[in-house]
Amino acid sequence: MNIHEYQAKELFEKFGVATPAGKVAATAEEAGAAAREIGGTGLVVKAQVHAGGRGKGTFKNGFKGGVHVINTAEEAQDIAGKMLGQTLVTHQTGPEGKLVSKVLIAKSVDIVKELYFAILFDRSKSAHSIIASTEGGMNIEEVAEKTPEKITKVPVHPTMGLQPYQCRKIAAALGLKGPLINQAVKLFSSLWNLYSKSDCSLVEVNPLAVTTDGQVVALDAKFNFDDNALYRQKEVTAMRDTSEEDPREVAASDFGLNYIGLDGNIACLVNGAGLAMATMDIIKLHGGEPANFLDVGGGATKDQVASAFKIILGDPNVKGILVNIFGGIMDCNVIAQGIIAAVNEVGLTLPLVVRLEGNNVEAGKATLAGSGMAILSADGLTDAAQKIVAAVANVA
Ligand code: ADP
Ligand code: MG
Repeated sequence: MNIHEYQAKELFEKFGVATPAGKVAATAEEAGAAAREIGGTGLVVKAQVHAGGRGKGTFKNGFKGGVHVINTAEEAQDIAGKMLGQTLVTHQTGPEGKLVSKVLIAKSVDIVKELYFAILFDRSKSAHSIIASTEGGMNIEEVAEKTPEKITKVPVHPTMGLQPYQCRKIAAALGLKGPLINQAVKLFSSLWNLYSKSDCSLVEVNPLAVTTDGQVVALDAKFNFDDNALYRQKEVTAMRDTSEEDPREVAASDFGLNYIGLDGNIACLVNGAGLAMATMDIIKLHGGEPANFLDVGGGATKDQVASAFKIILGDPNVKGILVNIFGGIMDCNVIAQGIIAAVNEVGLTLPLVVRLEGNNVEAGKATLAGSGMAILSADGLTDAAQKIVAAVANVA
């Protein structure tokens, strides 16, 4: 799960991470009022979307930049009016862009140097790790590719957490001197505290800025949370903005299904993440493109299967469906009943290939056969993939 920058700032404040004061606004008038409340000159207006690269982004109406430095409340109101209700396209949003329905008004700072600081889960080390770089404000993937020597990586001990000596080492690697070192050490420790207490899987501060008045402050924030820990993060869960998410994925999460939307046209309904990946692979091997990853899990109910099927059928890109079930804990007949329930409700005009194997397979096959529905039955993965790819080629 992701959150907006203005919400990340609330967490920064709660955990004592230095960041300029800010307020969120949903209308141009609110933006003006927020600017007056923060007071003084030197402010920024920032579009709030779940994507980076806003500064260099362009709105579909031609207005340039999702981050503007301004000086008066009138300007805040004017710029907010140009952003709100408009679609911002950045290198992270894809060409369709993202609708801006909120802006952040924050105090601007005079920047001496932009740095990069992130905490994330590094699977190759099985540890949470710090990634820091002197090259802030830029795309870190590009820095990693062109100048990897400018990136410092520090793994964090799983039980002891981030140690002060590690923070000092990172501050030194970032070229910080004098009183800036202690400020950075405090900021890194507070961020680590936030990261571990809030069950984050990523906190990226790009840029972490050194200011002309000798402060180290977080100017931007990108957060990811571990979905498996959200049950114990009520405050974080309340920050979820489903309008930023793929509607298919929102519907799937409501039914406890693991679903990821993709660009192809062959929908997959599978039990188990490994089998789901193998199914996507074999579809591609036979020249098809999967429309989604969907794992209904080991103990799905008839209602969950029916919901999964409806989500698939609701995707206009889908031209055919492959159901691939290996019944271990899962009862093949439950899958069959779920499919029939969904088809009875929403109808079926697309080719459907079903491969069932394992627990109660005979009953499952009998249920499908007795339904009178036009189902192509398959034996084994290859047969299933070939049948659905051929069927979709005929439709297209
Ligand atoms: P994004 O990464 O989506 O482009 P950022 O929040 O990083 O958005 O903003 C882009 C750039 O705007 C930053 O690299 C920084 O130079 C500038 N900026 C952002 N916030 C502030 C601020 N509060 N004061 C001064 N400059 C800022
Ligand atoms: Mg940024």
